[in-house]
This record gives sequence, structure tokens and C-alpha cells, in this order.
Amino acid sequence: MFKKMTKNIALILLLLFLSACGQPRAKYVFVFIGDGMGIIHMNAAERYLASMEDKGGIVPLAMNQAPVHGMITTYSANRYITDSAAGITALLSGKKTTNGTLNMDPEHRYPLKTVAETAKDRGMKVGVITNVGIDHATPAGIYAHQPKRSNYIEIAKQLAYSNFDFFAGADFQAEAAERDSIITLVKQNGIIYINNATAFQYLEPGAGKVLFIHPDSNHEKALPYSMDRNEHSITLSEMLMKAILMLEGPEGFFILIEGGKIDWACHGNDAAASIHETLALDEAVKTALAFYEKYPQNTLILITADHETGGMSMGTNYGDNRVDLSKLQWQKGSFTELIREFEDIRDYLIEKNGIDSVMQNPGWAFEFVVEQTGLGDPEKGLGMNEYEKQHLVAAYEQSFTERNWSDPYEYMLYGSYNPFMMAVSRTLSRKAGIGWTTYSHTGAPVPVRAFGTGAEQFGNYYDNTGIAERLLKVLQ
Ligand SMILES: [Zn+2]
Repeated sequence: MFKKMTKNIALILLLLFLSACGQPRAKYVFVFIGDGMGIIHMNAAERYLASMEDKGGIVPLAMNQAPVHGMITTYSANRYITDSAAGITALLSGKKTTNGTLNMDPEHRYPLKTVAETAKDRGMKVGVITNVGIDHATPAGIYAHQPKRSNYIEIAKQLAYSNFDFFAGADFQAEAAERDSIITLVKQNGIIYINNATAFQYLEPGAGKVLFIHPDSNHEKALPYSMDRNEHSITLSEMLMKAILMLEGPEGFFILIEGGKIDWACHGNDAAASIHETLALDEAVKTALAFYEKYPQNTLILITADHETGGMSMGTNYGDNRVDLSKLQWQKGSFTELIREFEDIRDYLIEKNGIDSVMQNPGWAFEFVVEQTGLGDPEKGLGMNEYEKQHLVAAYEQSFTERNWSDPYEYMLYGSYNPFMMAVSRTLSRKAGIGWTTYSHTGAPVPVRAFGTGAEQFGNYYDNTGIAERLLKVLQ
């Protein structure tokens, strides 16, 4: 009897040991970060697809068809609402830090090791892809350790010394002279620097380490919004295809892909731009899924976010229970682009007719808006009542006065944006059925989605620091 029991215990111990050893390890790891992407941002993109097909409900995103769904809290070491620097630090190093800090402890005494650095130690190749600046907080969170996310020169140097294999994104923040010395340093560290589409197209495995600065990096040091891009411009998904081609091999890889402009769109309460940026990230997820089909035994795809931006809601205080996002289809460009055009025309008119005349005659602005967004056109379901028109006229007048952003009431109305165009954007959102509560981030928990090897680790409700812990268990 006793002997039989010992035998059983031995058997159980053996099984436990085997299951610990048999923990599946991922050789190919994709980590997608939708910057600012909460559950509503995903859902808005899904509702938009259905609305455009005149259907009820949603057309699900690829990312939301993952077999494992989780949810993470996002607070930082010193604020309930995190910024992207503290957010990416928690996700990749597994430690909380203060807002603005990149991969260092809250007192800035020592660096925090990232999962990507561990992947490198284990012999894997490491890549990072973004549609904002390659030195911006989220992409920098894979390779940099800095007390301030705005230490752009130091961050760029840490990119050069990181020993990582593939970088692709928009340009460095540094001004021309400093930028030149950064590129020199990058080259000295054995990284090929590429800045045009043709060279990018011809990149082939064996070329070595690569830094691709997207040729369409604009004045904001980012790629244009998906809504504004020209059709030949290289997409996030195409950059990922190239990264896979370059990094695939016996060592395996760890690739971080950031959809950085979901956050930017939502800071500006621009629903259409947020939706198109989310769809662009989902296209990149599909590229990873196609790779996963080839290597289902050892590929992990993880999708999450650093925080929510905008306090976006499906439904508004209008209260009619309708969400028809097809009303956003008439918007011809992102609000960033539309504001630029609006201000160009305004300045031209002021020069021609004088400021008093332009202030007193908002007609041109209403014409611009109906032409560029459909707002004001009853046939598009975007007619405006008297109250709405008056609200826009008041905002138009505001846009000629000195702004006082430190006044909380004024900030609450328009943020730091052009008051008229912000009022247009929010009216358009409301008519489509989308609400906003802030021009900044919120403390809402964000979704986690996982496919493939070790995916089951990422289910349930936990803290963002738990992502790094789980990734460390799953990396080969
Ligand atoms: Zn942000």
C-alpha cells in the first residue's frame, strides 16, 4: 500500500516536471501595440466595416478573432493614467515606472531590462516597426533606457548601440546637424541606413542589420495617416513583411509593431482617422497571421495597447441609441490635414479681405466643411439644426481670439486644437454616434489578444507588467 502510494507520488511529480519542461516556447514572436487602442477603438473599426456594408452589428477585426482574450490594467508608478513611456516600460520590462520615463526605475537610478533584450540574449533577432518616429516613446521602449522620453539624442544613440537587427519607422526628432551624426553613428555600428522606397524594395536577407527611415516622414516626424497617404506609400503591413523576410531564420525573432497614430487621432477626437489607423494595424496583424499559418507550432502573436486615448464611447449624450459610422465616410482626410488646409485658406482670405471681414463672414468655413466632411449636408444624414450651426459659429469666432489653454473650461471645449475644426470634428463624431470625454489618455484597462504558441498564458484580467512576465516564459 505504502509502496503503491510512493509510486503514485513519484508519477505525479514526474508528470509535473514534464509539463514544466514541456512548456511550449515560441521561436517567432510578434508583439503589436495599438497606441491608445482601447476596446471601443477596435469596436468602432468593426462597426464602421458593418455600417459601410449597410449591415447591423459588426464585421470582426482579425485581431479580435484570437482564441485568447485578456484585459490589462495600465496605471503607472505615479499616475493612474499612464503615458506611452511608462506604458511600454511596464509591458516590456515588467516594472512600473513614472510617466515620461523609459525603461528605468521611478527614481532613475538603474535601467530596466526589456523582454526584447532578453530575446537578443537568447540568440533571437529583434526588430521594431512603427508609423511614428523611430525614437518615439513606444518604439524606443524596446531599446532605450532614459529618465526622459524626450532625450532624443541619447535615445538615438541607444538605438545605434542596441545590437538589434531591424528598425523601420519615421524620422528622428533631432535637427539636421545632430541627425547627420546619428546616422553616422548608426552606420559605424554596422547598421545599413535606407531612406528610399526602391532600396527598401530590394532589401534581401543577408544584408545585415537595417534602419529604414520611411521617405514619407512628414513634418510631424510620422508617416501620414492612413486616410492621407498616397497609394504607393509603404504601409505598416509592408514594413512587417520586409522585417519577416529579413529576420526569419534558425535563431527566431522578436518583432514589436506599433500602430502609433491611433493615439494621435484620438488626442484630436478624430473618429474616422482612429478607425482607419486601427484597420491599418489589423492589416499588419493579418500579415503576422499569414506567417503563423506556416509555422503554427512555434509562433506567438500578441496584440495589446499601452493605454486608452480619448475616452471614446459608442453612443453619445444625444441619446438616440444609433451608431451609424458610415456617416464618417465623407471625411476626405484626417483632421490634422483638414486643419492645415482650413488654416491655409483662412490666411489667404485674411490677406485678401482683411481679418474683420473674414471674422464676420464664416460662410466659406461652412462650405469648406461640407465639401471636406459632408457635415451640413442633409442628404448624407449630416444636416445641422440651428443650435448646431450657432455652436459652430461661436467656435469660429473663438478661433480668432487669443487662446488660453490654461483655462480649464476653454481647454475642455477645444483642447489645444483649432476651436472651429474641433467643434466640427466633435459634431461629426456625435452625429455618427461616437462620444469623447478627453483630448488625452484615460485610465481604462485595455484588451489583450493572443494567437499561437503560449497564447493561453495571456488570458484573464491582470496588470500590464504581467505581459513581460508571460513573454519571458514563452520566448524560446
Ligand atoms: Zn498619447
